[in-house]
Order: sequence, then C-alpha cells, then structure tokens
Amino acid sequence: MSLLVVGSVAFDAIESPYGKVDRIIGGAATYFAVAASFFTQVNLVAIVGDDFSAKDESIFHRRKIDTSGLERASGKSFFWAGKYSEHLNERETLVTDLNVFANFNPRLPEAFRNSKHVFLANIAPDLQRDVLKQVQGSPKHVALDTMNYWIERTPAELRETLKHVDILMINDFETRQLSNEHNLLRAARHIFKLGPSMLVVKRGEYGAMLVDKHGVFSVPAFPLEEPHDPTGAGDSFAGGFMGYLAGCGQSNDAALRRAMVYGSVLGSFAVEEFGPERLRTLKRSEIHARARHFLKLTQFKL
Ligand code: AMP
Repeated sequence: MSLLVVGSVAFDAIESPYGKVDRIIGGAATYFAVAASFFTQVNLVAIVGDDFSAKDESIFHRRKIDTSGLERASGKSFFWAGKYSEHLNERETLVTDLNVFANFNPRLPEAFRNSKHVFLANIAPDLQRDVLKQVQGSPKHVALDTMNYWIERTPAELRETLKHVDILMINDFETRQLSNEHNLLRAARHIFKLGPSMLVVKRGEYGAMLVDKHGVFSVPAFPLEEPHDPTGAGDSFAGGFMGYLAGCGQSNDAALRRAMVYGSVLGSFAVEEFGPERLRTLKRSEIHARARHFLKLTQFKL
C-alpha cells in the first residue's frame, strides 16, 4: 500500500562533536521517505529550489519513491543549520531559511490522491490540513508530526488539523507543551480528546512510547557506542513506523508493536553517520538483523 508524505526537502549544515558538514541533503520528508521506502511505495510531496541538482535528487532514485510531487521553484531550497552539544542531547538551531518553502502550496498529483497511509511531516498546520483535503476516500492512517514553533504560534490551526489525524508522532517536550501535562500518560489522555487515537512519543536516546486503546508499549533506542548526528532520527523513526504499517497492511496491536521496533531500528541507523548518509547505504538485511537484535535486547523470563 502506498504511503504519502508531505514535508521539507532541504539542505542542512550540521555541527556535532564528531564533525561538521556545511551542506548536506536533509529535510524531514527526505529522511522519512528514504526510511519508509524499505517497506513500501512512498509518494513524496515537497518543494525545492533551482539549487537542487539531479545529483541531490538521486537519494530518492532506485528506491520505491515516486518524486512526481517534488515541485521545483526558482530560488533556493529550504536551509537549516544546527549545532549539537557535547553529548548530543541538546540542539541549537542556528539558521532556518525558508526560501522556496515560504510559498509552498502543496498540490498532490492525481495518482497520489488515493493514498491509504499519510504522513504529514512538520510543516504549517493549515498546509497539513490542505493536503488532507486533497486525499480522496478515507485513508487508513493519517499521522502527523509538529514542533514547538507551531504549538506556540498557531495553536488554533494545529487543533483544527489534529481533529483529522489518528496518529500523533511527536517528542516528549512537544507532548508536554501541547497538552500542558508533564506526565506522558495524562498528556496522552488530553491529546486523545483533540482527535488522535494513538500517540507515539519519541524520546531520543530513551526510545519511544506508544499509547493507544490497547495500553502502553515502549521500545528502547538501540544502544550505540558512537552516535554521530541525531538529525532526522525522529523522521527516520516515523518512516520506519509508517512504512512498516503501510507495507504490512495491518494495524492490530502486534503490527503496531512491530512498527515501533522498525521505527526505532531506522532511527538508530540514521544517527550512525552525518545527515542521511547511513540510510543511503543501508540494506534490508541489516534492518531485519537489527530488529531481531531488539528481541534479544528486551526479552526476559519471569
Ligand atoms: P529532526 O532532527 O527530526 O528535528 O529533523 C531535522 C530535519 O528537519 C532537518 O533535516 C531539517 O532540514 C528539517 N527542519 C528543521 N526545521 C524545520 C522546519 N521548521 N520545518 C520543516 N523542516 C525543518
């Protein structure tokens, strides 16, 4: 089953204790699409400028990614720069240049309109809603990511969009900010009143937690000795999660639990190298081997 993603395709400058890159392809939709393409067909909707070359676009090639929704506009592509602290647990945003993204008005190609799974990456909530209006029929799952910027500046628009979403995938800080609750279970209860019936809280090095009608399910982050760059880990998690769900076509409790593990697996690979470089070389066999490793990580006898 195909999976629609709308979000940023960008150039990033990244600085971490492990090195520095001045210009590397990034963007939430890039990480998401590449991660999800290991499991299912991905339909990408985004905008880039005329500085985005055929070589840049090659990250999407020879994968199950349809780029006919990748719009080209004159001007520069979205640019983001960030710097990580010594232990990679804090990030400072140094630059956000919207460039062509400022006039992004996502239009779905006809062939994308019947997507059964939709991921609305972190963009303005009205644009996310606008995309949903173009999707025909009722998708099986609509997932949404957002950030503090939209929670603070466009709370009414975000609430309106959330009414049409069933899976909210945000980090712990955003969960607390959106719900005004510190405790994540109380936060989930609050969020369920806004529309979503599932909450996936991404917790960085502490893993991720799914709360839904079945209860709570937690996965750890895969223990890595030398993570290099956490950029895009959350989007890669979302790609693994949604890609697995769309690919298996099921959404029972067992499938959701496996989706959480595949999310964590893709997130863990993303942080191993700068930008999306590790995802470029990743093989399906490595994904499945790491998923099996999660069994060992979490199994115990009573
Ligand atoms: P994450 O590490 O999951 O927060 O995602 C990082 C990616 O999101 C980077 O590759 C950036 O290009 C992109 N990004 C950063 N800020 C924004 C924003 N305001 N809107 C859309 N994408 C963004």
